[in-house]
This record gives sequence, C-alpha cells and structure tokens, in this order.
Amino acid sequence: MFKLKLHWQILIALVLAVIAGMLAGKTAGLFGVAFYSAFDFVGTLFLNALKMIIVPLIISSLIVGIAGVGGTQGLGRLGGKTLVYYFVTSLLAILTGLFFVNLFSPGIIDGVPAREILGLDVPLETGVAAKVAEKGMGDIAEVFLRMVPPNVVGAAANGQMLGLIFFGLLFGYFMTRIPRAQADGQFVFWQGIYSTMMKITDWVMKFAPIGVFALVAKVIAGIEPEQVGDLAGSLGIFFVTVLIALATHVFITLPLMLRFIARVNPLRLYPAMAPALLTAFSTASSSATLPLTLDCVEKNAGVSNRTSSFVLPLGATVNMDGTALYECVAAIFIAQAYGLELSIVTQFTIVLIALLTSIGVAGIPAASLVAITIILTSIGLPLEALGLILAVDRILDMFRTSVNVFSDSSGAVIIARLEGEKDILTASR
Ligand code: ASP
Repeated sequence: MFKLKLHWQILIALVLAVIAGMLAGKTAGLFGVAFYSAFDFVGTLFLNALKMIIVPLIISSLIVGIAGVGGTQGLGRLGGKTLVYYFVTSLLAILTGLFFVNLFSPGIIDGVPAREILGLDVPLETGVAAKVAEKGMGDIAEVFLRMVPPNVVGAAANGQMLGLIFFGLLFGYFMTRIPRAQADGQFVFWQGIYSTMMKITDWVMKFAPIGVFALVAKVIAGIEPEQVGDLAGSLGIFFVTVLIALATHVFITLPLMLRFIARVNPLRLYPAMAPALLTAFSTASSSATLPLTLDCVEKNAGVSNRTSSFVLPLGATVNMDGTALYECVAAIFIAQAYGLELSIVTQFTIVLIALLTSIGVAGIPAASLVAITIILTSIGLPLEALGLILAVDRILDMFRTSVNVFSDSSGAVIIARLEGEKDILTASR
C-alpha cells in the first residue's frame, strides 16, 4: 500500500492545523467542548509522551556514547570539536542577527524611536543599569552552578538537563575505568535501555502528525485580533528581521559549513531531519524534540550512535543558535525603540551575554524571554520593555527552535565527518 513519508504527513497536518485553528478560534466547539481545549488536550498528551522519553534516553545515550568513545584521548578530541562547533555557530548566528537588526532598525519607525507607536510609556530610569547589572551576572553564574547538581535524581525530576548531562558524562567516562568484568555487564545494560528508548521513540513518532496538528491548531486558535494588528503594524518589521536572520543562518551559513567542512551535500540534511524540524516547530521545545532529533540523525542521516549520542543531548541544551540570534535582535530592537544610543561596547555586551545565556537557557518554550531580561537589565532597560515582543514571541519561538535543532544536527554531521565517519547523507540514504 502507498504510504506517505512521515515528514509529508506532518507537513499536511501543519497546514490543516492552521486552517482548523483559524476556523475554530478560542470559543467554537461541539457538544459543549471547545475545540481549543481539545487541541490543548491532545497536544499536551503528545508533548508529555515526548518528555517521558527524555530522561532515560539522555542518560542511556550519553553513557553508551561516552563509554564507546574509548578513553580520555578520544573523548577529549570529540568534546573539543563539539565545543568549538557550538561556540563558532552560536557566535555566527548572533553576528547575523546583529547585522540585520542594525540594517533594518525595526525599533525606529520614520526616523524616531518606536517607543510611543508601540505604546510603551514606562520611563527609562537612569539608575536601573547599575542596580541590576549585578543581578544579571549573578543569574548567569546560577546557570553554571546548575551544571553540577547536588542531587542527580532531583535534576532529572526537575528537567535540569545540564546537570543530568554532566552526571551522564562522568558516569560513562568512569565506567571505562573499572575492571572489565564489571564494566561489560553495565554496558550491555545501558545499551539495552538505549535501544528500548529508541523503539519507544519510533512508536511515539507515529503520532507526530496528530500531535503537531493539535499543538499548532492551538497556537493559531489562541491568536488574539490585537496580535494580528501588531504583526501587520509596528512589530511586523521586527518579525521579518528575525525571520530573515534565522533563514540566513539555516540556508546560508550552516550549509556552507556542511559543504566545505563536512563535505556533504547540505540539501540532503533538510529532508533527513524534516520530522524533527517540524516537531521542533510545533512544540517550540528542543528538549522535547531530542528523541526525534536522535532518531533522524542516526537513521536518516547515517551518523553513528557514538557521535550522535554525545553531540545531540549536549547540543539540545547548550547549542542554541536560533535562541542566541533572537536574544540579540530582540534586545537591540527594544533598545532602539527606547531611543538608547548603542555604543560598540554595549553591542559587544549584548553579544557576549546572548552567547552565555544561550548556553544556559533550557530547551523549553519561551526560555529566551528569561535570557532577554538579563540582557535588558545589564544595558539599563526596564524589564517591562519585554512586553513589547510578547505578542509575537510564540510564533518566533517556533522558528528559532527549529533553527536550534537544525544546528545540532548539522553539528552531529560535521563532527562525525571530522571523526572520519563515512556513508553520511549519501545518495543511497
Ligand atoms: N524554545 C527554545 C528551544 O526550546 C528556547 C527559546 O529560545 O525560547 O529551543
């Protein structure tokens, strides 16, 4: 029987969701049940199923991955390449955002700061900067403190991925330092858990079209008329600036790296990753998408389990190109709207904090907003200014999360090739 490929099914679900969401709105319903609540119910069910997989999947994949890398040298090499890739791509993403936000100046309308047009009347206090700068830096330190969790079960229970990853790395590494007889049994055990979790992922993936339909229909049905007005009006340029910058990163920068560093055909990575990218788009959570990202990178792109199980869990938490880019564009947009003169030093501060916070924010919806408050306080803008971008944040979140996931998968491909892997994104796949 003819069966449509999963990514086409999801894509069709997405289009249908937009139509259904527009028709249903927030109130329409059947037999006293609002469609909106039904979308919410089904969407949450799908999201929960994805999240349910994450903790055992991350732990087992990291342990198997690290233990399989083979010794300190192999790990150091793989880790080093991964960190360099994350750093370079995040920085390139931020600089792309910086370029476009300066080019289009979305916060300045007809030559004047858009603050009034956008309905912002919060006064800009001069002392704010000094008062809160310290807090901003403290928040960043907090992120790194969470990396070493005092209680690993607590970290898992509270979704603190960074802590879990750190523990998984240590566990996998030291498993190779104990007597062979003890290590071998453990390896088989964790490998078994990993394979089981991947099978569960395959099963949950079958429901992706339904889950995606519900999640997207809910977002569309929940859009208020004022939000559409904002989008068509003053926030439109901001919206388009973010999209153009994200597109430049995904369709120019990363493909060039795939072409010239990994020496693969970048055009093959998009269809290979499509199910994960579309799920990232509808869930707006790179953590929840991780099971699918792993599945697509291994099965469709052909990256070994050894590389992907190290690069991807780490990437889902640490490497967020779309988020970093967005933080930079949003902070500068707000500063422009406030008429703040942005010196080179201030712009540099924004780039640096965007880089640091993008490492620390969780892969969950709207996580960027927290990071943007840290930037705003450190350049002396009131937090209320964040209200400016809330209207369009959810939709932009969907795009930036897909970019985050695409960058992780490009990373897996590039690093696998640098590690000498063959048969990646070949025509036979
Ligand atoms: N939603 C994003 C993610 O999960 C994080 C963010 O930028 O808000 O990757």
